Parts: sequence; C-alpha cells; structure tokens
Amino acid sequence: MQKHISKNMADALMAWFGHHRRTMPWRGSDDPYHIWVSEMMLQQTQVATVENYYPKWIARFPDVFSLAAADLEDVLKIWEGLGYYTRARNFHKGAKYIAEHAKDRKSPFPDNYEEWLKVPGVGPYTAAAVSSIAFGYPAAVVDGNVKRVMARLFCLDEDIATQKYHKMLFEIMNRGFHGHHPGWVNQAWMELGSLQCTPRPDCSRCPLNGDCCAYKAGKTQRYPVKAEKKKIPVRCGAAFVVLHKNRMLMVRRHAEGFLGGLWEFPGYTLKSDRPDPLAFAEFIREHRLVNVRPLGRSVRHTYSHFHQRIDLFSAELEVPWESNAWAEARRIGLDELGSVPCSRLTIKIAGILDEKYPHGSPEREENN
Ligand code: SF4
Repeated sequence: MQKHISKNMADALMAWFGHHRRTMPWRGSDDPYHIWVSEMMLQQTQVATVENYYPKWIARFPDVFSLAAADLEDVLKIWEGLGYYTRARNFHKGAKYIAEHAKDRKSPFPDNYEEWLKVPGVGPYTAAAVSSIAFGYPAAVVDGNVKRVMARLFCLDEDIATQKYHKMLFEIMNRGFHGHHPGWVNQAWMELGSLQCTPRPDCSRCPLNGDCCAYKAGKTQRYPVKAEKKKIPVRCGAAFVVLHKNRMLMVRRHAEGFLGGLWEFPGYTLKSDRPDPLAFAEFIREHRLVNVRPLGRSVRHTYSHFHQRIDLFSAELEVPWESNAWAEARRIGLDELGSVPCSRLTIKIAGILDEKYPHGSPEREENN
C-alpha cells in the first residue's frame, strides 16, 4: 500500500477535527511561549493534568523573560508533581537561551523547525509543535498517538519505538498538509489518536476508515507493532526522618541528573531489589546517624525505568547537621514542606508522616 496522505484524507481529518476538537486553555493561541509551555507539559502527561498546571505556570512565569530570570528552585516548585524534572530544568535552560538571543531576532523566538532544534532541551517533537502551531511552519509532530494512527492507516510493520519509524512518519506527514495550516493538521492527527484511533477504536465512526489499511484488513489490533518491553527492575533503599527541634532534615539532590535540584529526606536507593545491611550500616556511619529505628512503613513509586521501594526510619544526628556530609541541607517543619520542590516519593513520605503526626512533627528536643 502506498504510504501517502492524500488531499481527501487531509480534508476529512480537518473536517472531523473542526467538529470534535477539545477546548484547552492553550488551544487557539499562537503565542510561541504559551505553546512551548503546553507542549513541554504535555509530553507523557494527560491533558487533564496539564490543564491544572498550565494556568499556575503562566501566572507565575507570564513570558519567556520571567522564566529565564527565575531561580531553578522556583521553576521546579511550580513543576512539582508533573514528573520528568529534567524537562523542567531543560525548559529553564531553553528560556535563558531564548532570552540571550532575543536581540538577534525581530521576535524573541525562532520561526522555524531547524532554529528551534538549536534551543537547549528542545527536541524534534517540541520544535515541530511550536514552529508549526505558532508560525505555520510545515514540520510534522510525531507523538505516541500519531504513531499509532499512522501504523494502522498504512499497516506499517516497523517497531514504533525506532528512529527509523519516526523518520518515516516525519517524511510521510510532511507531505500531507495539502494547504491546511500545519499547526492545526498536527493537532488534528494527535486529537484523532487521543479520541478516535484509541487502543480499542470504534472504526465505524472514523473519518478515515475508507482509507485505513488495518481496518480494511481487519487487523486494527495487530498495529502498532511494538517490541516486547523489558521488565523494569525494582530498586530498594531507605529514607531517614531526622528530627531536631520539631523540624526535619531535608537534603538537596545535585542539580544535574535524575530528580536534580529537588529536596528529599536523607537516604539512598540501591540498584538491587533486596535490602543490603552493609549499605545501610555504611550510610548510617558516614552520615553519623544514631538511634535509628524502623517506622514500620515503606513507600513505593514507579518511574519510567524502575520501581522504587523505600523503607522509612527515624534517626537522630550525632553531630550538628551543618557539619555533616550533606552537599546542601535545610531543616523544615512538616507543614512547610510545600515551600520547597520535592519529588512525588518525598511527598508520599510526607503524607505518611502527616498521618502519623497529625498535629505536626512530634515535640522532640535533641542535643544537636
Ligand atoms: S479506521 Fe480505525 S484503525 Fe483506522 S485510523 Fe480510523 S480509528 Fe484508527
């Protein structure tokens, strides 16, 4: 079958989109910053979740210059709970880049796909989305929904996770705008994947069923082709609630890398699914923790590449906390935890402490 989006298909898609498209706070805007914000948030995240975060973000950072001038900690705080924190850090870096290069252009923003790809943290998806929606630049947006639709429309047998598949779709779709605004066409394909060509589609209602290879062959469940996923490992570890004068010790992760810049309870995660008494003893010794007691609770969280299981302990410090081996540390009350950016796992731990100590942290007076 020819892998070609005909004009009739593009027209039918756009007619369907005109009737079915959802209202979203950012939809219809051609402000590149607003579109950039929404696209950064929408990756691997449900529209309903982004609808909650987007207005808060725009209120706090109304334009790219306010984002560029903000502290990373403020940026992470507003992003908190969306996950994939590298994206927030990269967005911040990208905003600084745009602000620095703003004087070189008429608009602060590049108006084409290739220039957007030069912005730190901007990959093919975001470059295509922002340049097509804000500037009408003909660059196809290839997301998970679009990959599923195209695999079925053309019975594509390539594994959808490969670069080869991505490149093939980019080429097919870039030839399929047929005079429609590229930004709207991209949104229409994504919307068709979200609302109509779902994992279990009702093809009788699809505007493209007359052209769909998988539907005509009765093979919609065969597509898209996905290589078997590797099982993701479990990693276990420990976190310590270190109280001092009614306040808990929180430490900050290194700015670069996984969950970089976020605050958490002191602790560690192993690359193993079993507790390691030696690693436990080593952590306690290195950080001069004493009176370590199990809290009898553990917390679980799943990231894209591993499951985490953290056992909770209470502990005290043998030395003043300022002199300890933490890179950056703070004492804060349980009720103040909302003022610093934390990972979801840390928020789950705080929830357990909240249940355990409903009137705030227990009154304790240690000597350090
Ligand atoms: S006919 Fe069915 S499988 Fe084909 S594009 Fe439409 S919804 Fe998807």
